[in-house]
Formats: sequence, C-alpha cells, structure tokens
Amino acid sequence: MTLNENIAKIKERINKAAIRANRDPREIKLLTVTKTQSTETIEEALQNGIQFIGENKVQEAEDKIPYLEGKYAEFHFIGHLQSNKIKKIIPLQPTLIHSIDKFSTAKKIDKFIAEHKLQIQDILIQINTSDEASKFGIYPNETSKLIKQISELPNIRIKGLMTIGVFTSNEKNIRKCFRTLKQIFEKIKQQKIPSVEMKYLSMGMSNDFEIAIEEGANIIRIGTAIFGARNY
Ligand SMILES: *Cc1c(COP(=O)(O)O)cnc(C)c1O
Repeated sequence: MTLNENIAKIKERINKAAIRANRDPREIKLLTVTKTQSTETIEEALQNGIQFIGENKVQEAEDKIPYLEGKYAEFHFIGHLQSNKIKKIIPLQPTLIHSIDKFSTAKKIDKFIAEHKLQIQDILIQINTSDEASKFGIYPNETSKLIKQISELPNIRIKGLMTIGVFTSNEKNIRKCFRTLKQIFEKIKQQKIPSVEMKYLSMGMSNDFEIAIEEGANIIRIGTAIFGARNY
C-alpha cells in the first residue's frame, strides 16, 4: 500500500472506532509519529493530509524539524526528555511535550523559558500504567502530588496525561492501562488544581489505538501503521 492509502485506512479505522464508542471522530487528534523517517517521507505525509507530527529523540527533531517548518500544523515531542537536552528541544517550539514525569525536568524547562523569555510550554504528564513494561512515567499513586508541584511553575501548563499501553497481545491488559489513565484523568479534573487543565488524553499506538479510542483517547500516536516497520 502507498503512504496515501495507509493514511486513508488509518483515518477510516479511527472513524469506525469512534463511532463504535459513541464518540465524534473529529475530537480525536491523529499524531503521526515520524521518528526514523526522512524529511522527504514526512513531507509526503504532510502533502497527504497529515497535520500533526511527533518525534521522540531530541537530536533527530533538531535535524529534521527546522526543515519542515511551515509545512506542519503542530510538532509534538513524545520521547523521554533528558534535562541536558531541554535547551535544544524548547527552541523548536513543540506544541506539546507528552513525556514529563519528573519535577526536576519541569523545573528546568520553566527556568529555561524564563531566562530566554520564551512562550509558556504546554505539557502532558506521562504515567506508567503498566508497572513493569515501561521504564518511564510516574506511578499512578504519585501523579496528583507531581501535578500539584508542577502547577506552581509559571512557564509550564499541564494539559493532560499520556501513557504507553503494556506491550502484549492481551487486549484485556492493554485496556486496563488505558482505563487507569482515564480514571486518573477524571480524578485530577475533579481536584480543580489551579492552572491545570485535563484536556488531552494521549494514548494508543499502531497496535492498540482502537482500544484507546474506546477508552477515551483524544490524541493517538501512530507510526508503523502509517509508514510501515521502522528501519533503524
Ligand atoms: C514510536 C512511538 C509511537 C508510535 O509507535 P507505533 O507502534 O509505530 O505506532 C507512539 N508513542 C511513542 C512515545 C513512541 O515512541
């Protein structure tokens, strides 16, 4: 299948999953994960109806994003962010950073923005909903405390939560991860923490996005199902 056909197929699957879940497909953002893809391939995707792109490595984003400026509507950073890379990623102006799981990282972003008089950065908190499977993300029972701490930083705004579902073919276990994230999302919403908005629920990748949509995702992050298997 061509890239264009893959994109059409994904959009159709998003629509079907949304309708199954009694949801409006238009409220689900398709974030196309462009890691390992060349700028030529990404441009082709952007010419075929893709608007939102995500990268997970700072170096790679630095190499590609400046060349794509003006061609995408939004660039999101979705990978683990080491604090020594903050100075490189923030100037690329990611619309959203999905992967904040430590106060120290948030604090350094806040400081960098203040020093350079840049715009407030929107972020999501990454939660480890699968315990053993993923190294990154804060544990569910520590989330509320972290969010309250970060909410005090003037140059960062929390806009929601992100998780990576457990890597398994067992649908029940995947669904459990997404339900956990949604429950935390609702709990935080009820806490009405000043300047914290529970707007985005970023969950679901190529293998599990339909389950994620059924469980309430409004950002899904898709790479392989659009571009094919990655060539590292
Ligand atoms: C690579 C990646 C994705 C996309 O994974 P696919 O299985 O290729 O769709 C989504 N989220 C994160 C954080 C990733 O690193």
